[in-house]
Amino acid sequence: MITKNNYSADEQQFMCDVCSEAITNPLCPFCLTTEIEAWLTLYPNLRSEILPKLKKYLINIQNKLVEGDNCIKCNKRASVCPYCFTEYVVRELKRMGASELVLKEFIKFFNFDFEHNGYSQKTETLHIY
Ligand SMILES: [Zn+2]
Ligand SMILES: [Zn+2]
Repeated sequence: MITKNNYSADEQQFMCDVCSEAITNPLCPFCLTTEIEAWLTLYPNLRSEILPKLKKYLINIQNKLVEGDNCIKCNKRASVCPYCFTEYVVRELKRMGASELVLKEFIKFFNFDFEHNGYSQKTETLHIY
């Protein structure tokens, strides 16, 4: 007999702790940080300033990291979606006074789903004539 519990365990969706949306994007914050580190070699000053913050952020969510198939790189499931994580990075970059150019480059490289919340609601409203 197939119990309901067994079934839902298979189908379980993992929600982001920050935005409460299902985590569907392929890279976890840990793997994203590796990418961000590589990108930031272009900007050593920003790199040395932001990396300690990112590591601290990762330490906070590390204990919630579980085995799973969410991330295409490390096969783990994080409790924060890439959207919320990249948004956090953008916020930190802005706070550090990163130039418009750097921010644009970041968004271009790490643009996962910037229509995830907020923006999409605006877009929807705009489409109603
Ligand atoms: Zn999220
Ligand atoms: Zn990963």
